[in-house]
Amino acid sequence: MQQATIINLSYLIASVLFIFGLKGLTHPRTAVKGNLTAAIAMLIAVVVTLLDQNIVGFGVIIAGIIIGGAIGMLLAIKIKMTDIPQLVALFNGFGGGASVFVAGAALIEVSVKTKNPELHLTVATVVSGLVGAVTFWGSLIAFGKLQGLKFANDVRFPGQQLVNSLCALSAIGAGILVVLNPTSIIFYWLLVIVASVLGVLTVIPIGGADMPVVIALLNSYSGLAAAATGFVLGNNILIIAGSLVGASGMILSSIMCKAMNRSLGNVLFGVLEPTADTASADEVYAGKVKSTSADEAAMLFDDARRVVFVPGYGMAVAQAQHAVRDLATLLESKDVEVDFAIHPVAGRMPGHMNVLLAEADISYDKLKEMDDVNPTFQQTDVAIVLGANDVVNPVARTDPKSAIAGMPILDVDKSRTVIVIKRSLSPGFAGIPNPLFAMDNTLMLFGDAKKAILDLITAIKES
Ligand code: NDP
Repeated sequence: MQQATIINLSYLIASVLFIFGLKGLTHPRTAVKGNLTAAIAMLIAVVVTLLDQNIVGFGVIIAGIIIGGAIGMLLAIKIKMTDIPQLVALFNGFGGGASVFVAGAALIEVSVKTKNPELHLTVATVVSGLVGAVTFWGSLIAFGKLQGLKFANDVRFPGQQLVNSLCALSAIGAGILVVLNPTSIIFYWLLVIVASVLGVLTVIPIGGADMPVVIALLNSYSGLAAAATGFVLGNNILIIAGSLVGASGMILSSIMCKAMNRSLGNVLFGVLEPTADTASADEVYAGKVKSTSADEAAMLFDDARRVVFVPGYGMAVAQAQHAVRDLATLLESKDVEVDFAIHPVAGRMPGHMNVLLAEADISYDKLKEMDDVNPTFQQTDVAIVLGANDVVNPVARTDPKSAIAGMPILDVDKSRTVIVIKRSLSPGFAGIPNPLFAMDNTLMLFGDAKKAILDLITAIKES
């Protein structure tokens, strides 16, 4: 068999494995296998590509795999589950940055060799440079925001939309210059600089509840940049893998938009939502919040028939999922029906709660999606809101000026009693007070999520 045939056959196998990998990732039960399948596909793709180039030998490939694998393994072990979104943002950024340099290098090489690169190559280079630079800088800003770094604080000024639009037009203009003068590499770097400014300007004003969509979108951009680089290099696997990342990132963005009631257009062009004028914490809470103890709360379960856990970011911080499983098992042993209500953007990454609860061996059948569980809250005796805040904030329904206005929420307030477990009255990610904490049927159980659940278990056992 000829080398080209072997290479293309390997690329085909890798592509099929990528698709099976993605399919596996659509369900928690098959996610680990899906991840492994996609990782094997990536290994095949990288090794075959390097062999195809005939510029590096096996020694270099193995050394690269060892060094890259070690860095990846170190990150996977060291990074806390709650910091995964930052890591994803960085990975997206690296993908975009790599596309900028690889496409630029290919343009330099072809310009030097042929003096007249073909049109399709320069167009693909422009797309790669533009999208890659936007992705790189946008992702660094997104990383900074999620990490709470000062340089990434929200920056908003009058006429921001206009400045962003002018910047986008300048980037397109620079792209046209590259296509018209492909041998003048200076235009390519001009394009990269303008696109970098665009990446920063687009993401810097976006804050609070929009971040998950931005991360998913940047993920999609990194895929599109990689696919464009695939066209520059004439590399089929890069085109296929990039398109898969681009398309799945776009689908995820659209699912997240729906979950947060944001239009993709708004997020794409950094349109600001009104955030001012929401009620202050004093107005919402003063004199209305009732706190409880584990012993007191335990009594609520004496005659409860149905209990719903509503996990949020705080459960992840406290690593309370195993304690939650123990409490659920205890309640079930007392013939209580137990479910888990999962909001699509609870926590700090898509699927965050599903992953944690699966880690604690909580059956997937018990995890109910928002649309399925919302109609059941009226028949729920006790809803336990565990370190969740924004995803149960009723102002999303009532205050059109709030940062989360219109975001579909879990209707826990319709339950007979709501126990909210968190350490204080501090706001959640969106930074706004939550009137749920002051409602007549709400009791606040202040404390760390894990400790509070363990205390509840002890109190229920003793009661
Ligand atoms: P929130 O961020 O709204 O609230 C989490 C709450 O957890 C806080 O109010 C905090 O209160 C509490 N908490 C923190 N640590 C502990 C602890 N150890 N024990 C008990 N409670 C604790 O979380 P939600 O899950 O409700 O909402 C997610 C938010 O994050 C949404 O706004 C979403 O848009 C955003 N987001 C989601 C992403 C995703 O993909 N899922 C990605 C990025 C952002 P206190 O300090 O008083 O304890």
